[in-house]
Amino acid sequence: MPEISILPAVQAFIEQAHHLYIDGRYTPSHGTNRLAVYNPATGQKISSVPDATESDVDRAVTSAHQAFTSGSWRKLSPCEREATLLKLATLVERDSEILSQLETLEQGQSIVLSRILEAGGACNWIRYVAGLSTKITGQTLDVSIPIPPGARYTAMTRKEPVGVVAGIVPWNFPLIIAVWKVLPALAAGCSVVAKPADTTPLSLLYLAHLATEAGVPDGVFNVVTGAGTTTGEALVRHPKIAKISFTGSTPVGKHIATVTADRLTRLSLELGGKNPALVLADADPDLVISGLAIAGFMNQGQVCAACSRVYIEGPLFDTIAAGLHTALSSMKIGPGLDETTQINPLASRAHQAKVQNYLQDAMAAGADILWGQEPPDTSGFYVRPAIILNPKPSLKLVREEVFGPVMTLTRVESAEEGLALANDCEFGLAASVWTRSLSQAMDLPPRMEAGTVWVNSHVMIDPNMPFGGVKNSGVGKDFGTNWLDAFTETKAVCIRH
Ligand code: NAP
Ligand code: MG
Repeated sequence: MPEISILPAVQAFIEQAHHLYIDGRYTPSHGTNRLAVYNPATGQKISSVPDATESDVDRAVTSAHQAFTSGSWRKLSPCEREATLLKLATLVERDSEILSQLETLEQGQSIVLSRILEAGGACNWIRYVAGLSTKITGQTLDVSIPIPPGARYTAMTRKEPVGVVAGIVPWNFPLIIAVWKVLPALAAGCSVVAKPADTTPLSLLYLAHLATEAGVPDGVFNVVTGAGTTTGEALVRHPKIAKISFTGSTPVGKHIATVTADRLTRLSLELGGKNPALVLADADPDLVISGLAIAGFMNQGQVCAACSRVYIEGPLFDTIAAGLHTALSSMKIGPGLDETTQINPLASRAHQAKVQNYLQDAMAAGADILWGQEPPDTSGFYVRPAIILNPKPSLKLVREEVFGPVMTLTRVESAEEGLALANDCEFGLAASVWTRSLSQAMDLPPRMEAGTVWVNSHVMIDPNMPFGGVKNSGVGKDFGTNWLDAFTETKAVCIRH
């Protein structure tokens, strides 16, 4: 396989003895447990990180809290915070090939995707958020308070950083999602303790060091590596955490909401999806096929907004099914370091087994399956991609989030039938409508139960476009000019004069 060469800096970083990142430096854990990091393309262990203990988490949160109360970051002028974050973007750009290779080595994704979406995306998103640092504003409020008679009051609002933020990151896009958790918190003036998923910790450890190089003061950006059920749990339950920004599965998001209810910890939850596409009879078939092939199979379907359910009006069904199968069959499957591949291994052995179980269940039920290319015969975490035609509603993979290279296509008799099926789902993250009719393009999106609806595209996101789910897909919105609302508290100040 024509794989790219690993940069010496990447090899050296992977091989170094990794520690936690606390108080502006790599800091050894108090514990001795370590978690292995595997290369999904080979199944081989490539590195390990500490499994942080409760006392490690306490040190990290204490460091973040001290930095917050000292004002070393919070009290900088907005321009100074913006300039520091812009410097971080420049450093990410400088080291973008290192970060891209790290992402592919620990997560398995295509190096092309790592370069465009992870490292390249990180630069764009950091620059966007950096600019928000200087756009934090309150309001002046005319009030009518009548007591005592003749007194005059003027009220105003201030946006103040909430304090220490816990940023909990999943494994599907480890770098860019870490940026979405950490950077808006920093722009708002908060301090952060971030926890990567246990399988993909390396790029976040690298990013934290770059933040220090950019001039983010010590203690403002900390990273604790470790398992969710121990390290993650200790972090979200820590009494000094003012806000949790979580991206991950719905069950874990609900668990965190439950165990933090006592403290009323502020929460943003970006959770799972089971995202439908509704293809109307007048849609452009070529656009649908090329768009949904990417939306369904990019990063092996390990994308929260991935399209996994497609409802197609009868006349177009056979054309779309045949076209998607041709597109899938042409996608080369292999290691992410091979730039010519489009389908790569899944991120972990456990996830590979989970997705294979869904497919075995479908095969046992006699489902009509169109397959993509056979994976290479290695011990990498590959799953053969699949399209399921007109699945029975009772199949597990129809209702549950598979988060793998699996898409279902269902023939419907009308847009109304497709809309009803699209909305008949516990999730509501994203959806798309495919049509050439302006009136359908205007009428259907408001009726779709999803946080984002695309027309004639799917999975396209932008920092200026709010993103987040409804129903079991979460609470709160990331991105957009109001992004910092989640990391600031509105204080009313009322002045008698
Ligand atoms: P996950 O199992 O819920 O884990 C997410 C993060 O939470 C990981 O860092 C995990 O740590 C940690 N965690 C687990 N248990 C915890 C606990 N009790 N307390 C605190 N933290 C805990 O999700 P995943 O499998 O990594 O990611 C895939 C899921 O993320 C999918 O459902 C996908 O749809 C969703 N997602 C949503 C969005 C969105 O924007 N809506 C974006 C991307 C992904 P460990 O892994 O180390 O145990
Ligand atoms: Mg996990």
